Amino acid sequence: MLTPVQQPPPATFQGLGLDAPLVAAVEVLGFREPTPVQATCIPALLSGQDVVGQSKTGSGKTAAFGLPLLQRVELARREVQALILCPTRELAAQVARELRGFGTGLQGLTIQELTGGQPARPQREALKRGVHVAVGTPGRVLDHLQSGSLHARSLHTLVLDEADRMLDMGFGPDVRRIAKLLPGERQTALFSATFPDSIESMSQSLQQPSAVRITVEEDAPEAAQEIQGVTQLRLASTPDQRFPSLCRVLAEHPHESAIVFCNFKASVAELTENLRYYGVSADRLDGDLDQFHRDEVLARFRNGSVRILVATDVAGRGIDIDGLDLVVNYELPSQPEIYVHRIGRTGRAGKTGVAVSLVKGSHDPRITDIEALTGLPVVEIPAETIAPSDVPAILSPLAGPPPMATIRISGGRKDKVRRGDILGALTGEAGALQGADVGKIEVHDRLSYVAVVEHLARAATGRLNKGRIKGKRYRATLLR
Ligand code: ADP
Ligand code: MG
Repeated sequence: MLTPVQQPPPATFQGLGLDAPLVAAVEVLGFREPTPVQATCIPALLSGQDVVGQSKTGSGKTAAFGLPLLQRVELARREVQALILCPTRELAAQVARELRGFGTGLQGLTIQELTGGQPARPQREALKRGVHVAVGTPGRVLDHLQSGSLHARSLHTLVLDEADRMLDMGFGPDVRRIAKLLPGERQTALFSATFPDSIESMSQSLQQPSAVRITVEEDAPEAAQEIQGVTQLRLASTPDQRFPSLCRVLAEHPHESAIVFCNFKASVAELTENLRYYGVSADRLDGDLDQFHRDEVLARFRNGSVRILVATDVAGRGIDIDGLDLVVNYELPSQPEIYVHRIGRTGRAGKTGVAVSLVKGSHDPRITDIEALTGLPVVEIPAETIAPSDVPAILSPLAGPPPMATIRISGGRKDKVRRGDILGALTGEAGALQGADVGKIEVHDRLSYVAVVEHLARAATGRLNKGRIKGKRYRATLLR
């Protein structure tokens, strides 16, 4: 049976029982004190208990399971000791990145992503060389277990992150198959933003009967807190006025980066095409994109090379994108919690943001539910009919290239390429850029993405292709 626990949260990471290198790492990351889900889950996990942890998106679940798991890794033993399953490759990459940040003080720690949509061979080779922690998607992890490239004999921890999402996506059977191939004597943790019945039955089949259930309730004030600083607006529109209304919203709310959410992949594709037709910098993120392109779109969006991201919840969920000025619900979700998650992406870190939802009429019942959950009003802005022929004029201030362009470089972390090396290559003699011309640099496993001011990007790409980074040649490609 699952027993709910109630513990007053101790004030420090140290007080939760974490070792000095981990405490130091979270301090460097700017974590001042544990979040409630961390304060309750970390001691339970350190004591070896199985845990079901439920708390809203953005509440710090990765550290809640990641820190205890890293504390239990024996660095001298180069075998997979902990396995984290995630529903998508982006989430796996995000978890791996965050764990590497926590593990900076653990000498020699290796964390390997095992995700589909990319070649298995480099993953097999990494596993052969020795890996402490694997973060993957169920299908690919199962392949590695069944083919014998992933040995589970030293595994002591299994984590299911976004377990609800994994079950929604039909990974339940794969997850069960994976668990059967792992040592029975292990710690199993399930983390999830929601707690449907399917999680309960997953818990019963994978965990010890003594598993503790830790729920950090998302009550009305908390939902309101999540969207603190966000101005919520709604605009009634008929189906044929939807696109013109969106154009008006985009034009009337100046933004550097905005996400437009849709409920369906088909709407995402159509909308992206329409915006691009009018010269607006937009790209799409949905389940139909292959993994490589999803990575690329996210990198370009984060660094200012794409102004407007059109996304479904499936692709957008759980992905940490900060600093949005504007979120538009082109289609309003039926669950108010999803609405809160969508618009909670704006107005973070003390900034203000705007969320505009296109609704069916002045009495859309979904708005009633949303207002009931948050206790905050969604203010109606008056609709005006826009002729389709006016759309180009409305969008013209938004048309044109985005401020930055992205260069993809064929070398990454595994090639020992670091951010400083890329910055050096661009600003050094050969590159001749000023530091201010270079934007965000993201170093992935085998690739890097660097943002450069738009008008210098082509020349910079050419120079990168002629020059070297740390003495080696890499291919640079300007992304459009
Ligand atoms: P969840 O998995 O619950 O959606 P994440 O683990 O992705 O949440 O954390 C959301 C964000 O909050 C991340 O950017 C993370 O680095 C940050 N974060 C996590 N814990 C803390 C903390 N104790 N203090 C400050 N920031 C934190
Ligand atoms: Mg998470």
